[in-house]
Amino acid sequence: MNEHSLKKTLSKFNIGGLRYFDSLGSTNDEALAWATENARDLSIVIADEQTQGRGRLNRKWFTPKGSALAFSLILRPAAHTAMSPHLSRTVGLAALSIAESCRKLGLAPRIKWPNDILLNGKKMAGILTETVWSGDRVDSVVVGMGINVHSASVPPEEFLQFPATSIENELGKEAPAREQILYNIIESFIHWRERMGTDELIKAWEESLSFRGEQVQVKAGSENPIIGELLGLESDGSLRLRDANDKSIIVRFGDVSLRPTA
Ligand code: ADP
Repeated sequence: MNEHSLKKTLSKFNIGGLRYFDSLGSTNDEALAWATENARDLSIVIADEQTQGRGRLNRKWFTPKGSALAFSLILRPAAHTAMSPHLSRTVGLAALSIAESCRKLGLAPRIKWPNDILLNGKKMAGILTETVWSGDRVDSVVVGMGINVHSASVPPEEFLQFPATSIENELGKEAPAREQILYNIIESFIHWRERMGTDELIKAWEESLSFRGEQVQVKAGSENPIIGELLGLESDGSLRLRDANDKSIIVRFGDVSLRPTA
């Protein structure tokens, strides 16, 4: 993967700009900085290696050289009318795009709400969305995606709270080139962004959720976990559960972590 191969791969799309790095602290940090310097809508920052890759709450995201996809998209909602009223759906848009790229390879991805993609119950990708505000208006949204492609991208076990895997591990054979996977993700992302306000997006996102119909627990910070059956999504992308008293509970985004109860 290099700047030339990426430019060629992405030439079919109307991207805003591309910044490629052999090694970078965090693609989200670079994208946030570029966003404040007026990056155009759908600009991409991509790195072959991240030395300070971030998950939520500054948890570390592991991106060793040559083995993963780590990139961040800069979105300017004001330049995209289908998107601006539906920003709470952005993480679903990203998750669905990664899931569809896996399906193209014959895999069966599941979205662990809100921001992880699983293959066979193990995490193969994570999403980190961050917002740049201008007063009370959203100036830009940065969507970072980290995708484990080759086996070497899977972190050592002691690093993890949740088991991890890669596309290659689950395919049981060599994975396609990272550029090819990136192409498929961006193609899906553009397709669904045009349909950001539709019920179709919520339906496709909901159908890809993991643990649907199962008992799960959702933990937010140090509060007691919420336990219930995972029913589906609200139209803003919040999660809907049913508790033991048949009461419906809506879980909004934030630093929540979802686990099966068993
Ligand atoms: P979660 O959604 O599980 O709360 P985050 O979105 O905050 O997690 O992502 C950071 C966590 O993901 C880290 O604490 C680590 O356990 C795990 N992790 C880091 N890098 C990878 C990777 N390449 N593949 C799978 N899991 C990872």
